[in-house]
Amino acid sequence: MISNKIDIEIIKTSDSRINQFDPQNIQFGKLYSDHMLIAHYDNGVWGKATIEPFRNLSMHPATTFIHYGQSIFEGIKAYKGASGQVVIFRPEENYKRFNTSAERMQMPTVPEWLFMDGMKQLIKIEKDWIPKEEDHSLYIRPFMIATDPFIGVRPSALYKFMIILGPSGPYNTEPMKILIEKDFTRATPGGVGFAKNGGNYGASLYPVVLAQKKGYDQILWTDALEHKYVEEVGMMNVMFVIDGKVITPSLERGTVLKGVTRASAIILLREMGYTVEERNLSIEEIVTAHKSGKLEEVFGVGTAAVVSFICRLAEGDYVMDFDLTKSTVAPKLKKKLNDIRTGLEEDKHGWLVKI
Ligand SMILES: *Cc1c(COP(=O)(O)O)cnc(C)c1O
Repeated sequence: MISNKIDIEIIKTSDSRINQFDPQNIQFGKLYSDHMLIAHYDNGVWGKATIEPFRNLSMHPATTFIHYGQSIFEGIKAYKGASGQVVIFRPEENYKRFNTSAERMQMPTVPEWLFMDGMKQLIKIEKDWIPKEEDHSLYIRPFMIATDPFIGVRPSALYKFMIILGPSGPYNTEPMKILIEKDFTRATPGGVGFAKNGGNYGASLYPVVLAQKKGYDQILWTDALEHKYVEEVGMMNVMFVIDGKVITPSLERGTVLKGVTRASAIILLREMGYTVEERNLSIEEIVTAHKSGKLEEVFGVGTAAVVSFICRLAEGDYVMDFDLTKSTVAPKLKKKLNDIRTGLEEDKHGWLVKI
């Protein structure tokens, strides 16, 4: 049962850590804001939520999610404009995806008041934690964990939904070097690749570290069955510009995460006059395009870095280098997305939620 009533209690800290926050020197992921939102699910209902001073959690060692990974999350950004206006980029899309992930992981869905209103109220309280500098933002991390103190494998009866916030500076400003991965697999049809559940990321670390030892930053996953078609990179979707057309792997096998940045990029690129194809894209097609000089650009799209430039893509010993000074699509897209959220360009799709 889901209650539609907004029921959020606010308990403010008397001991702010805002003086530890230096917008000139942000260490992403290390510093969190003064407050967090927490709500408990028990016996089929979401109870009252509280926004309270940021604190550690204490839990029973047998807590379900620690052992069996019933754990999901989202990543969203809030920005502060020069005038002090605070906006969140397309959070309803993250809300929908969160509940899709919840269903796949046999977890309860979260009501809109809790996710959306809870997030807005928390950000309102924490607005001083949002850096104003260019390319800076407040990273919003909603998540849910299964909290039964029970070590049997079954869906938990208890859950906690939480939102924590941390300031974020420019991310991945260096162009990336990417290795095409043909041995390890991120997601299989029928699996959980479309969900943002914790285990997907734990399983990705080993092959990524192997690639880093070879001098790459990240890997480009390929399909599990044949390792023939490309899928995505780390926490970003991927786009290729071949002979003037933008091509991005399709979502239909359920093995590629349905990125909000990806969806926004497809709309904007089409408005800018590009042809965008969502379809299977094979390594062979990429290499052939490169050999004939038609592979113009490769870039990543995701909330963390928005648009990430890729300067090298390799398949085994075959290395494809890109002269980024010749890139046009990725920089134009990045500027467009930035201009929309900073108000330089009209938000005609209604993507910004104002706080
Ligand atoms: C979060 C994520 C993305 C990017 O999604 P956005 O909604 O654009 O942030 C892409 N791939 C994976 C595996 C992800 O976890």
